[in-house]
Amino acid sequence: MPRRMFDDLGRLDIPEPIRERKSPAAESVVVNAVYCPAGHDLVSLEHEIGGYPAILLGFRGSGGEGRVALSAVLGDPSRKVVEGTLTEGESPTLFCTVCGTPLDVLGECDCSPGAVSVLAYLYPRRNPYQAIAFCSSLQCDNSAVIRSGEAIRAHTGRHWQG
Ligand SMILES: [Zn+2]
Ligand SMILES: [Zn+2]
Repeated sequence: MPRRMFDDLGRLDIPEPIRERKSPAAESVVVNAVYCPAGHDLVSLEHEIGGYPAILLGFRGSGGEGRVALSAVLGDPSRKVVEGTLTEGESPTLFCTVCGTPLDVLGECDCSPGAVSVLAYLYPRRNPYQAIAFCSSLQCDNSAVIRSGEAIRAHTGRHWQG
């Protein structure tokens, strides 16, 4: 049976007082290792974000090359430029700092022209379904790393270009 939204005095009837609390669903899921297409682990113990080792990537844009560390916590958009400058509004090419191989592309991101959703693999083999995905702009809502399965669903109708 639906609850009435307002009580007899016309006040919003809130079933439970709202208080600050930690939702169990908010528990962090952290990736301990992710791999480039050639099988190098991108998680760096030398760079931490939010207390966890971060995903270290090279980037190449109009402002030159650099390195950026991304949070390894799923859904966390935090990042830190370690070296170089990211150009605002531009989607750099992201690559492995060990071998220089660009990350595989899952599909386009609608946030800006040239932005793509890229993959990093959870195992040294290139399986797009066992991967994380994030937007190469590093600036839009899709820039936080998520499981690739969720990203693939969001890209329904597009083919994985591996
Ligand atoms: Zn590599
Ligand atoms: Zn985007």
